[in-house]
Amino acid sequence: MKTIITHDPSETAAVGECLARSFTGGEVVLLYGDLGAGKTAFVGGMARALGISARVTSPTFTILNSYLSGRLPLYHFDLYRIQDPEELFELGWDDALASGGVVAVEWVERAGEEVPHDAITVTIRYRGDRERIITIDDREE
Ligand code: ADP
Ligand code: MG
Repeated sequence: MKTIITHDPSETAAVGECLARSFTGGEVVLLYGDLGAGKTAFVGGMARALGISARVTSPTFTILNSYLSGRLPLYHFDLYRIQDPEELFELGWDDALASGGVVAVEWVERAGEEVPHDAITVTIRYRGDRERIITIDDREE
């Protein structure tokens, strides 16, 4: 377990970049935190570490954004808008988890029973306007 305080979105992205630098495929990162906490910013940094040059935007409406141009594929889910965990199957949830790529999930609270085991959890909390407390629980440590 690791705790880092950041002061702007680029610092939060840098924390995500640090985390993903050592990824070799198959990692699942579950991001917890309120709207606007910085979950998508964090995933943006992860993408950079994976060699993805595309700008990471929120998959709020598409639910899944896939980035296939890096050294590993990145599947970025935002489950905020799903109504029923059953929808996950149509969205390619199982495929992404079995792909050997990297999976990042915002609002996994909506996934019901379908929460992956052995995931890395990242929790981002507000501490003032631009300060965030990021806690990373990486079970491999
Ligand atoms: P989420 O995906 O959790 O809803 P986003 O990453 O989309 O959040 O947005 C985070 C918002 O908070 C952005 O508008 C960003 O500019 C702002 N922000 C301010 N301070 C920080 C910080 N320390 N880390 C991340 N985002 C921050
Ligand atoms: Mg987001």
